[in-house]
Amino acid sequence: MTKKDLTKYTEACNIKLEMPIKVLDPKVVSRIAAGEVVERPASVVKELVENSLDAGSSQISIETRGGGISLIRVMDNGVGIPAGEVELAFDRYATSKISSFEDLESISSLGFRGEALPSIAAVAQVDIVTCAVGESIGSYVSVKDGMAISRGSQGRSQGTTVTVRNLFRQVPARLKFLKSLTTENSHIANVVSQYALAFPEVRFALFIDGRIALRTPGSGKLIDSVTQVYGLEIARNMLEIGDREGEWEGGASLKVTGMIGSPSVSRSSRGYLSFFVNRRWISSRLLAWAVEEAYHGLLMVGKHPVAIINIALPLGEVDVNIHPTKTEVKFQNEHLVFSAVQKAVRRTLIGQAPVPKMEEVATTYMSPSVARQVLLPESRGSATTSPPAAPQTSAVSLPVLRVLGQLSSSYIIAEGPDGLYLIDQHAAHERILFEKIRCQRSSPGIEVQGLLEPVTFEVNPKQEEVLRLHYEDLSESGFSIEPFGNRTYLVRAVPALLYKKDWAGMLRELLDSSPGKGDWMESLAISMACHGAVRAGQALTNDEMRELIRQLEQVAIPQTCPHGRPIMIRLSSEQLSREFGRS
Ligand code: ADP
Ligand code: MG
Repeated sequence: MTKKDLTKYTEACNIKLEMPIKVLDPKVVSRIAAGEVVERPASVVKELVENSLDAGSSQISIETRGGGISLIRVMDNGVGIPAGEVELAFDRYATSKISSFEDLESISSLGFRGEALPSIAAVAQVDIVTCAVGESIGSYVSVKDGMAISRGSQGRSQGTTVTVRNLFRQVPARLKFLKSLTTENSHIANVVSQYALAFPEVRFALFIDGRIALRTPGSGKLIDSVTQVYGLEIARNMLEIGDREGEWEGGASLKVTGMIGSPSVSRSSRGYLSFFVNRRWISSRLLAWAVEEAYHGLLMVGKHPVAIINIALPLGEVDVNIHPTKTEVKFQNEHLVFSAVQKAVRRTLIGQAPVPKMEEVATTYMSPSVARQVLLPESRGSATTSPPAAPQTSAVSLPVLRVLGQLSSSYIIAEGPDGLYLIDQHAAHERILFEKIRCQRSSPGIEVQGLLEPVTFEVNPKQEEVLRLHYEDLSESGFSIEPFGNRTYLVRAVPALLYKKDWAGMLRELLDSSPGKGDWMESLAISMACHGAVRAGQALTNDEMRELIRQLEQVAIPQTCPHGRPIMIRLSSEQLSREFGRS
């Protein structure tokens, strides 16, 4: 084919051939590569903070302006960079952290690719001032377009300051895709918050446009970081994951520590879940799922927990070299990690879930003065002798309770060794039934009650689809349903706990909602528990109340109903004394 023929041919086929293959200009290459590491201003903050942490700093101060585009400055008191190596640090793949291929298998530092500084320098103007341990005077280098444009000595105490200006000015395409300054600021604040949670022993300070956005004390206590990052309300309701010294899962190879929020501080997004693997902040859907699984039945639908989960495991068990931003890792044994996290969280929830105290809920539920009027006549009458110190049931924080009476046909008033309890009878019974249903499903099977005559049950087309899909789930849960043609079904038996209850209404409600299968089984159990439970407004005999409380003492999680609402509130003896002015 002659060149003329080729032109004709390409024109006919509408192929553009005016671009021959050629090697890209190094500047373009480095900007493309930089794009993988530096996605947005917060990525720069992340890389610089990681470098400061790798340098062993105990104080890190971060300052940003204009969403991080005008300025990002990270200052630390770490080991610094020796004067002779400062420029080298800006070479691609220059790192002091690993030296061989084998080192990749056991990375203990946060950085290791030697890509951050050159990537940042490819898309911004960077100044670095550093003074290494043992050196008496510091040095500085200014880098523009990836090239050092000035260098020299400069006084500085031990540590490093990196200043990044005019980010993405040379990359308009990237600049265009950035979100509002507020969004970029919130990403920056999030990165710093995450590292503040991962390194409570480091003092962090973050200034955004001159305002202090975060400051942590560097006390080494996670709760102090949580207080600064999430505020007092969440911090007050955090439970420590049982840091059982020496108790490692799966043959001494894995340890889970951290803090989780009690179900009362749930949030409507997953943004409050933090995971650190050997102190590296990572994102992991697997681990998010493990935590949410552990909270199953404790949170309202659509709510998510607060959790800070640290996983320590041998360096060889986890591959961190998966992605340029180093935010994803691959575990050798995913299953082990999943189950260790899930178990640690569940154990913490079951072992420590606090019963809400009156002062925390008084405003929403009952003011102390109302409590006084309503509760007194009942409790004075019967509470003449104090009960013997009640032993705690093994897995539960609910003590043995003595029933005193019923309030408004809806609440059971009971006395425990630590004060007065007001228990929502419907919520309590829901929890009891919910745990029973789950337990019966896994063992001999659910108790079933045959109906004297089969009842016909008509469904609409959408309900029929859901019914078909979950036919087995329903029969496993005690419903015996047969097709009768024409979108009509015959119900021959129902779960015993729903006998003489509005099971048809419950079925209809369920068939109208159609989430995924796993959730559906859960929703079914919750609905059954809700419909089977005693209602508010139903008078109970003393025996019935005693039985209900006895059963509540046995359940694993007596604090909240399956929808996540509190079952009880407690008025401690001290509060009572205070109310009566005795203290
Ligand atoms: P990496 O962190 O993957 O090694 P970087 O490009 O982030 O690559 O940094 C290159 C090198 O510069 C590091 O290996 C380290 O030796 C040095 N360095 C960067 N920032 C700091 C700092 N804040 N303190 C001390 N050394 C630093
Ligand atoms: Mg680095």
